[in-house]
Amino acid sequence: MEEVMLTFIAVEEARKLVLEAVSAVPEERAGLSDALGRTLAGAVVSPETLPPFASSAMDGFALRVAALASLPAVLRVIEDIPAGVVPQCRVEAETCARIMTGALFPEGADAVVPVEWTEPEGADHVRIEKAPEAGQFVRPTGQDVTAGDQVFEAGQIITPPVVGMLASLGIGEVPVRRVPSVAIITTGDELVPVDSALAPGQIRDSNGPALAAQVVAAGGRPLGPFHARDTPESTREALERTRNADVMVVSGGVSMGERDVVRNVLDEAGWTAIFWKVRQRPGKPLAFGLLDGKPVFGLPGNPVSSSVCFEQYVRPALAKMLGHPESIGRISKAVLSEPIRKAAGLHHFIRGIAKQGDDGRLLVRPTGLQGSNLYSSMAKADGLIHLAEALENPPDGTEVDFEWLSWTGR
Ligand code: AMP
Ligand code: MG
Repeated sequence: MEEVMLTFIAVEEARKLVLEAVSAVPEERAGLSDALGRTLAGAVVSPETLPPFASSAMDGFALRVAALASLPAVLRVIEDIPAGVVPQCRVEAETCARIMTGALFPEGADAVVPVEWTEPEGADHVRIEKAPEAGQFVRPTGQDVTAGDQVFEAGQIITPPVVGMLASLGIGEVPVRRVPSVAIITTGDELVPVDSALAPGQIRDSNGPALAAQVVAAGGRPLGPFHARDTPESTREALERTRNADVMVVSGGVSMGERDVVRNVLDEAGWTAIFWKVRQRPGKPLAFGLLDGKPVFGLPGNPVSSSVCFEQYVRPALAKMLGHPESIGRISKAVLSEPIRKAAGLHHFIRGIAKQGDDGRLLVRPTGLQGSNLYSSMAKADGLIHLAEALENPPDGTEVDFEWLSWTGR
């Protein structure tokens, strides 16, 4: 297996290999109360027409516009039509019906006069000061959706208004993709949990909670985070414990150090190594392969490398597993507002802050120091500035791709 493993490959090739290795997870059905954030597994075709009947858009009077040839006009009110009630009378030339917003529009009428344009006149008449146009303030049947229309495509993420739309169409259950489970294993003898005090040489395990949050943000279900020590036994044990997950993400232990045992343990467990090392910064030692046919990501342990590699490789894999049409983040063309020092050779993901320039162009600049251990460079970022392998010391004014981070919502 080791002999077919690719090494030191380009970012695009790594992404392609990851996407080729995963496929959509099976579907299941979800009720509307469990559907938020899930992904539709099939298109939704409307069984009904919306609105289902013509109704009034205002509180007012349903009438025939022809009755208002001279103004003001006094008409007899023949009926009250509240919402949810079927009108009993037909509106004739000199009559009208008092109608509420959303109430069924009566036969014989062709417009609604809002109550603000009227004055009561005696017990059962109304004086109308101003005429509407024919059809005005009437909501026609089927203005929104016709029965048989496709209202949503497969891959649509179920947002609050999607829930509302489905409910209005009488669809209480939809086919969705199963939520992929993503096991998270962090490795490192130096790591302690968030609620522990630090002894000399120790740091907090930040990748565990951050990766779990990234899994949720990407539509997956985190298992763990579990922690393993930098020994084959401890790493093996964590791996066995989580082997039933749809995806495995191991943080740390994939570099060249003596204690970087993760790839050895995966070899022993019989994984198919697909690649190790990508021509990128941060995240060069990234490892990827399949164990029991399921994707395993060995993310470099530096917090920024872990976070960036998740967004660049794990999130696209989850997007494909969920059947989303787009697997990568939204990219805008932008211009560097500062020069960046860079040698040729690696693709750099510079954590960037974006600002609209006076000329309408999107200006981007680094968040600050870019060390892969410096978390604030990532936490402050709107997105990632892509600097291609060949680019060397790009000056300000250089045109670049800027990939919005998924959680910025842009
Ligand atoms: P490694 O990839 O295991 O060589 O780790 C690279 C760097 O990332 C080291 O400085 C580690 O201490 C740090 N690191 C590894 N795992 C984590 C983690 N879960 N949380 C925070 N820092 C980590
Ligand atoms: Mg380590």
